[in-house]
Amino acid sequence: MKAVILEETRRIAVRDVHDAEMRETTDVLLRVTSSAICGTDLHFYEGRMRGIEGGVIGHEPLGVVEEVGSAVTGLIKGDRVVVPTHICCGFCAMCVEGHSSECLTTNPGAAGAAYGYPNKGGYQGAQAELLRVPFADANCLKLPGEPGDDWEDDFVLLADAFTTGYHAAAIIDVGPGDTVAIFGAGAVGLLAAYSARLRGAARIYVIDAIAERLEKAGELGAIPINFLHGDPVEEIRRRQSKLRFGSAFRHEKPLGGVTCAIDAIGFQARSRSDYSREDPYWVIEAIAEIVNPAGRVAITGVWPAEDAGAADASLAEGRLRVPWSKLFNKNASINMGRDDDERWNRKLRDMIVSGAAKPSRIVSHRPSLDEAPTAFAKFDAREEGYIKVVLKLG
Ligand SMILES: [Zn+2]
Ligand SMILES: [Zn+2]
Repeated sequence: MKAVILEETRRIAVRDVHDAEMRETTDVLLRVTSSAICGTDLHFYEGRMRGIEGGVIGHEPLGVVEEVGSAVTGLIKGDRVVVPTHICCGFCAMCVEGHSSECLTTNPGAAGAAYGYPNKGGYQGAQAELLRVPFADANCLKLPGEPGDDWEDDFVLLADAFTTGYHAAAIIDVGPGDTVAIFGAGAVGLLAAYSARLRGAARIYVIDAIAERLEKAGELGAIPINFLHGDPVEEIRRRQSKLRFGSAFRHEKPLGGVTCAIDAIGFQARSRSDYSREDPYWVIEAIAEIVNPAGRVAITGVWPAEDAGAADASLAEGRLRVPWSKLFNKNASINMGRDDDERWNRKLRDMIVSGAAKPSRIVSHRPSLDEAPTAFAKFDAREEGYIKVVLKLG
């Protein structure tokens, strides 16, 4: 089968490799029709999260069931399914409580497994023609329609980007009337903005520095803020203050920020003063500044256990300086972590099918599998409007 291999840092190749094969009676073999490239794949590509060099990359597959293990009860050959990034078993103490990204059995000795991901169980990646899906009954979400139909790019986003964006909004209960500041307008930040809108937020600010991504945020109904054009905290306060006039808001000056904030960038945030450099501190500092008293904060950008390219030893181990007192004195609540895909993917599928959600509005490029090396390079450079890339197979 053809597959995308991360040969070494910044070197992607499309190669013929051994076909993925069934190993357990609980497996299915998936014939992949679409497979998305994630911002997280770029952390591997840039050599910041190491350990899958030489292996197949990718963790966002959509496809059709090709072969079914004898112990699989809910699937038959020909079923169209999307498979979440995080591989769960469905029966361990974490899975039964809905924490599918912290599954205890699929990566023994740790919590959480994923396809094509370092330190997540060694599973082969999903940017390939075939994928072995373990515990298929728990991991495959059945879908209507046919490969290549109008839902193809909506459904592929159920593997990770849409569920993670929704997770960011849901874990801090974004709801009617909330004001939300979202740092980062990659696929997850944009879909967090879209999800906040679906959940009834009154005003949504999206902070980024790339024109095409900010434009997309605007198309989705958010207010784009370019962090290179000024202090985003001041800009949000200025815009919010225009809304707060008349007697209804007397004595409410401390509420000039937002009720909710989301970090959808993570450890590789770009510096505000020099975009060519990284500054992992400013986002949490801005969040602590801009949230109102009793504000709710979601940290969903990736913070890996080890960063091979960190600026100092402390950051290499993920120890970040955080304005703890400010957050404490605001009674802020903080929620964080990986997306428990299984909590949201069924509900979001049904919203797509009913027409209530169309997440594929953020998909910018649809190259073939063979074009993966160029797609990675351009996506990594954030050039030519590369926002979300879906590789097409077959
Ligand atoms: Zn992903
Ligand atoms: Zn489990």
